[in-house]
Amino acid sequence: MSKLYDVIIIGAGPAGLAAGLYAARAKMSALIIEKDRNGGQIVTTDEVANYPGGVEEETGPSLIARMVAQTEEFGAERVKATVVDVNLEGDIKVVKCEEAEYQARAVIIATGASPRKLGCPGEQELTGKGVSYCATCDADFFTDFEVFAIGGGDTAVEEAMFLTKFARKVTLVHRRGELRAAKSIQEKAFKNEKIEIIWNSEVAEVKGDGMVESIVLRNRETGELTEHHAHEDDGTMGVFVFVGYIPQTGLFTDKIELDKAGYILTDVDMKTNVEGVYAAGDVRQKTLRQVVTAVADGAIAAVQAEKYIDNKFH
Ligand code: NAP
Repeated sequence: MSKLYDVIIIGAGPAGLAAGLYAARAKMSALIIEKDRNGGQIVTTDEVANYPGGVEEETGPSLIARMVAQTEEFGAERVKATVVDVNLEGDIKVVKCEEAEYQARAVIIATGASPRKLGCPGEQELTGKGVSYCATCDADFFTDFEVFAIGGGDTAVEEAMFLTKFARKVTLVHRRGELRAAKSIQEKAFKNEKIEIIWNSEVAEVKGDGMVESIVLRNRETGELTEHHAHEDDGTMGVFVFVGYIPQTGLFTDKIELDKAGYILTDVDMKTNVEGVYAAGDVRQKTLRQVVTAVADGAIAAVQAEKYIDNKFH
């Protein structure tokens, strides 16, 4: 039979690493399972300026490398594996990976959420080089530049307004002739003189050699393609994509209570509706998805898991 851990943490982004750190410091045996590279979304960020106490020239990878080292120092185990199934009922939870099966008394789900991509040519190559999915993280880099914001939901419209605090001009591009965002949010955006809206249009391509230099839009009614170039004095511009997020909760459908969008519902202690199962970070329903809130969630989840194990099994 495989080793019985106190806690298994699924996902090694900031939430999962913080949970591992707190679990190991509390002398629990902890296993962190990650299918990809450590760090989650933040490792795609070239500069992290909003994490309190961060060092100068902090990048996503440098912050994550220190988190990993700190988590290891306290003895949390890590394994690279893809979870294919979970059995979360009962006192012993089972996490099945492609090549092995792990058991624990508690599970912390920290699988994160991914911004939905546009899927157009140039998007992937220019991510972090002008294409961004996070205004809070990257707006500052575009101070006095022009930016495009893509999407028509609450996030796109709110973030477009946030971007006007930095950018010279914000062009909001929406694929329909009417925004999805709440009317109250729309009204504020319509009054904002720095925001221009291009309706019924989708992004056909993002172009640039090393940095975004232009964006090609396709009018969905006429099929006409229009290329918008960065101002020649700027040389570059931002393309912020806000077309929704995809929570990584496919494994937990029908096993844990999710909201309509697929995010895990927790209470303030990160408890899900299943005893001994917690969720932390971007995967749970919350209002601010940032490293600082993810690590806080991870710490809370680990402390609660420790209390649960102490009360139930000792
Ligand atoms: P969302 O509501 O799902 O909106 C996504 C937007 O992106 C929609 O306008 C959609 O267009 C567009 N879109 C989707 N795929 C696209 C594609 N491939 N190309 C171009 N456009 C595409 O996502 P969200 O704005 O991130 O909001 C998520 C949830 O959080 C919502 O429930 C929202 O109400 C909530 N939220 C609330 C607040 C607030 O209350 N202050 C703030 C932020 C988010 P269509 O409209 O044509 O489908």
